[in-house]
Amino acid sequence: MTSKLHLKENPTIQDFQEYVRLMKIERGFSTEDKAYECMLMAEEVGELFSAIRKTMQGSAIATNSKHKDVELEIADVLIYLCSIANQNGIDLEEAFRKKEEINKQRVWNTI
Ligand SMILES: [Mg+2]
Repeated sequence: MTSKLHLKENPTIQDFQEYVRLMKIERGFSTEDKAYECMLMAEEVGELFSAIRKTMQGSAIATNSKHKDVELEIADVLIYLCSIANQNGIDLEEAFRKKEEINKQRVWNTI
């Protein structure tokens, strides 16, 4: 089956969320189970951290391990972030703006 998915040039965060919503439908992935989706995102965060670790000086890497790109793993995290936002009816741009307004009011100290 040929995918009908297309992410336009210069997408907004809403475009990413809509792409992920359609992608879940096209691939037949569950969009109902919130806990399962969180578990999948946690796995992807672990893969991202592992990929970053493998870029660090002195990091031990098994000779048979498959090197994964940080770029690809961070995209997986974005996909699950969009999916979890979709499941919970959250507009990521709106959430970001709201949270940053709160953060701007905070006093940030360095230890
Ligand atoms: Mg991954």
